[in-house]
Amino acid sequence: MTLTDQLTDTRTTPRRKVLISGSGIAGPALAYWLNRYGYAVTVVEKAGAPRSGGYPVDVRGTALEVVRRMGILPRLRESHIDLRRLTFLEGDGREVALLHPHTVTGGVAGRDLEVRRGDLTDALCTAVRDDVEFLFNDSIDTFDQSGHGVDVTFRGGSRRTFDMVFGADGTHSRTREMLFGPEEQFHHYLGYCFAVFTMRNTFGLWHETVMWNAPGRAAALYAVGDDEVHAFLNFAQPEPPFDAIPDMRAQRDLVATVFEDAGWEVPGMLAALRDADDVFFDAVSQIRMPRWSSGRVALVGDAAWAPSFLTGQGTSLALVGAYMLAGSLADRDHATGFAAYEHSIREFVTMNQALIGNGGATLFPTTPQALKERNDRLRNLSAMPAEEGRPAHSVLTLPEFTPMS
Ligand SMILES: Cc1cc2nc3c(=O)[nH]c(=O)nc-3n(C[C@H](O)[C@H](O)[C@H](O)COP(=O)(O)OP(=O)(O)OC[C@H]3O[C@@H](n4cnc5c(N)ncnc54)[C@H](O)[C@@H]3O)c2cc1C
Repeated sequence: MTLTDQLTDTRTTPRRKVLISGSGIAGPALAYWLNRYGYAVTVVEKAGAPRSGGYPVDVRGTALEVVRRMGILPRLRESHIDLRRLTFLEGDGREVALLHPHTVTGGVAGRDLEVRRGDLTDALCTAVRDDVEFLFNDSIDTFDQSGHGVDVTFRGGSRRTFDMVFGADGTHSRTREMLFGPEEQFHHYLGYCFAVFTMRNTFGLWHETVMWNAPGRAAALYAVGDDEVHAFLNFAQPEPPFDAIPDMRAQRDLVATVFEDAGWEVPGMLAALRDADDVFFDAVSQIRMPRWSSGRVALVGDAAWAPSFLTGQGTSLALVGAYMLAGSLADRDHATGFAAYEHSIREFVTMNQALIGNGGATLFPTTPQALKERNDRLRNLSAMPAEEGRPAHSVLTLPEFTPMS
């Protein structure tokens, strides 16, 4: 008997129907918890299946408790990458420093997890697939809140009415655009663009990352321990290249031009980029919004507050946000539930977004002087033991929520 069967056995009133746009991290996590609290959940994803690409992601602090309560922590522990070292190189390939990764990332050794993004989406989707309706290859075309619910028209042509709709459709959320207007109002560009993709591990790297830096440019190879490495190319760009973002050929051309004369393994990385079929390219940016809901529609995860990869907290915030949003609706209507949701995690989100002010971007200096100073700091770090204890930005006490009877 599935979770849904158990819930419908005891239920006398019809289940409230909700639609979630996006099956990344926040989407399936929200689906899991809303289903637990008695909602009939549909998830619509524009891709044909859960998208598995991308750089490995961190699950830290409070987010570990969310995945534990979902029952997927043991599976994720098995997928833990266990990165053992992080080597920084000068522009000419000489070693600057060799560090334990947590010294730089702010993670806590032995507790935090780093997993392939695909392993996490797979674990999340597996946890809900028997209890939730998934619509792949489709998306919301329009929604209308003027009636008693949200009337949704799908790109595929069908129409349905839901009690609530949730945008978990990432940094460039279309749900957010339909609800609050163009992304430009909320998009805070942090001055960099990046591309990640996988390529063959011909470097002999094993559970380690090697990062090459020149002013305004960084290239990294992240070996998770198999025959592939995750390649990462990050570069400073004064204006966000909005034209290139949706166009894969323009993305590759831009990256190739910026790294044209770079040394180390970069020429091989550019060749691999041309043939890669899993490129993830984006501007490094944050989404900052004064509110995350309007009427019966709310946003969660990157759609609401993308903190940028510079914080290392995007995935953990998406998991915690999904848990708090669903919990706020466990025994409330949408208006009071959405207010409780915003109240419960606004400060936590703001604290995480502020991490870039504490120097996340200093890993990627843009001038020779700033790069020299960063390298000096890294050399000093390598002489110090990794810090113990849990940083405040990854700690939030999770309440237990009780579903409406
Ligand atoms: C393929 C992929 C690779 C990624 N790789 C990296 C990376 O290397 N580094 C990094 O910092 N961050 C990466 N991210 C973002 C990272 O996963 C998020 O920052 C974080 O996990 C928060 O998750 P989220 O669920 O809020 O958003 P996301 O993980 O971005 O998930 C959003 C989901 O919504 C879907 N979607 C988008 N628009 C629509 C629409 N109109 N209708 C229906 N569905 C829609 C997307 O296909 C995706 O499945 C990646 C995201 C994706 C989708």
